[in-house]
Amino acid sequence: MRLFDEHVVLRFSLLLACFFFAELIPDILNFNEHSYNFIPYFIAIVILACVALFYKFPVGVSKKLRNDVDIPEPKVVEPIRDLKKDLLEKDEMFQMMIDVSSDGFWTFDVATGKVYWSNRIAKLIASENTALEDSFEPLKKRVIESDWNVFREQLNAALQHLGTFSCSLTLLDTDKKNVKLVISGRVQSNETGRPIRVIGSLTEAVDRRFVEQEKYNYAYQDALTGVYNRKYFLEKLKTDVDMAARRPDHLFAVALLDIDSFGAINASYSIKIGDSVLRTIADRLQSVTRSDDCVARIGPDVFAIILHNIQSRDPNDDLIPLVRNIHNKVKAPISLEGKDLYISVSMSIVVNQDVDCVEDILANANASLRDMKKGINHGGIQFFSGGIREKAMKLYKLEFEIRRAIQAQEFVLMYQPIVDIRSGNKIVGFEALVRWNQSERGIVSPAEFIPIAEETGLIVPMGALILRMACKQAKSWVDMGYKDIQVAVNFSAKQFAVDSMVDDVRRVLTETNLNPRNLKLEITEYTAMSDGDKTIEIMRALSSMGIQISIDDFGTGYSSLSYLKRYPVHTLKMDKYFVDHVADNEEDASFARMVIGIAKSLNLDLIAEGVETKEQLDFLYREGCRLIQGFYFSKPLNAETALEYMKEHYNVPTQGKSIETEPETVKA
Ligand code: C2E
Ligand code: MG
Ligand code: MG
Repeated sequence: MRLFDEHVVLRFSLLLACFFFAELIPDILNFNEHSYNFIPYFIAIVILACVALFYKFPVGVSKKLRNDVDIPEPKVVEPIRDLKKDLLEKDEMFQMMIDVSSDGFWTFDVATGKVYWSNRIAKLIASENTALEDSFEPLKKRVIESDWNVFREQLNAALQHLGTFSCSLTLLDTDKKNVKLVISGRVQSNETGRPIRVIGSLTEAVDRRFVEQEKYNYAYQDALTGVYNRKYFLEKLKTDVDMAARRPDHLFAVALLDIDSFGAINASYSIKIGDSVLRTIADRLQSVTRSDDCVARIGPDVFAIILHNIQSRDPNDDLIPLVRNIHNKVKAPISLEGKDLYISVSMSIVVNQDVDCVEDILANANASLRDMKKGINHGGIQFFSGGIREKAMKLYKLEFEIRRAIQAQEFVLMYQPIVDIRSGNKIVGFEALVRWNQSERGIVSPAEFIPIAEETGLIVPMGALILRMACKQAKSWVDMGYKDIQVAVNFSAKQFAVDSMVDDVRRVLTETNLNPRNLKLEITEYTAMSDGDKTIEIMRALSSMGIQISIDDFGTGYSSLSYLKRYPVHTLKMDKYFVDHVADNEEDASFARMVIGIAKSLNLDLIAEGVETKEQLDFLYREGCRLIQGFYFSKPLNAETALEYMKEHYNVPTQGKSIETEPETVKA
């Protein structure tokens, strides 16, 4: 019956109408002769009563929120509920909540002792796909023992008092260092007050201090070596400069340390070894400096130190001994993978009283470093002095001048003879050595401009010019009848790195019409080792064209000898440095013997460079070295004089086939 719905007033009104008409029925029966006239009244009353009691009236206008939206009738809830289905749905809902949460959940069943771990916990304390054992064992194995003991005590206390607990745990053996977890739990009890279950969570703790430290490290630390980075160094230097402006007694010095030929270490050994060298140097600098000094890596192979607490304005008092100590510690041989690696470090120092802004301090220190690396103080210590900046300016000017000189073709070639002392000092070839014929200064030595040309890349256009000049000259000599003469041209690493290098050489040979066998290319060990695979490919291509390749300054590089077997090398040139003292120093003599032995065993030609004295020549002759280049025979000559020399020494008749010329008869 719908008597108590929202139409109750209407229904009662209809019922009242029914009663009213029912009241009239006796009157109708008494006053009407046709007593059957009451039947329609009776039917109407019954219909009205039924409508009042049972009719389902339509929903009224008040229920419409909007004209176009009807609120559906609420469904009638089934009075009998499916408890099993309810339970399953709830279970599913909880599982979904657990899965989407970034926290891990666990439950511990007191009666069975079984532990359920959510997937998130498996990810936190084991690898992602590992299903965890249903006990506390997986957690016990992964956290430090003292933390585990605290957790166990707290869990037991909570079980006794039906309470809650929370404690932190540190994960063991993780590559993510310092991972801390927070484990919390609440005990659930039954109606008798006995604990039946513990429900808990496990989350990764975010240690604010740790995060802050990480951020700080990222911004200010050099990731490879752990010392400060360039950014920090510049900020610190600015602080010191500002302080010195306020307090004139604030003395500090800036030291720049540059590892010489670091590129060669990387190229000859490996980048891994190069990184280890940098790390070792950083560690040494940190251990040798004082705690308030600042050690930073400000370039790939450049370290900087701000030295504080300088007591005296006279560097001799405390700064020089301090700097020497640092330099000595840093450049000591480094033992890596069972080998001792010898390194050379150039160190420049600027004291703050010389300058009063960050830019000037760094510019001076850099100029000083650059100056050292170009000169004889390479690998030493140099204090900045006023003249160095001017010198640096001069270098920039020189660079500009070299550009102009290439255009103006001011470079000329000199030719230094290479002679065979075992066949009557017959000339076998020349080394082409460049000179700059400058209008104001006259002839300028390559030592002054080749390093700048290499550094600026100008060596590439300059080298192309030199190669063309040398090939032209060689061709003219060949045409004069000196068919076997070989001209050796120096090639730098930058020239070797040019992609079109082989094609460029081939084009020059074609254009000058020179037979490749009359051309030799000299490259240093460093060039041979840099970009190993590419260099080997270029060398093979050149060699297959018939061009010979010499390794210049042999013995001064860092390389292992194994490359000699792989590379298509024809000649080794023993550096002057080893030749200088062969006659008066047993160590140098042994080294020279070793180089001669290497060349012999690999079946390579050997040229001893820089031979100046008869004693050196005698030694080399005795040890079996046959090719000599040096002032003893001739200084580098211009083209005309070289031709004169050749006329005298080309194809010198040997005295009998097997009888070799005695060294005593050797004379320039
Ligand atoms: P390098 O290729 O090792 O050339 C040998 C150097 O030793 C030459 O110096 C030569 O004059 C010098 N020398 C030869 N014999 C003696 C001697 O008995 N005593 C002394 N004291 N020195 C001797 P130079 O011509 O000054 O060249 C120096 C370096 O400049 C060369 O060393 C080479 O590395 C570079 N260089 C010269 N010309 C060129 C060139 O055309 N291109 C390139 N890339 N580098 C060049
Ligand atoms: Mg050379
Ligand atoms: Mg040389």
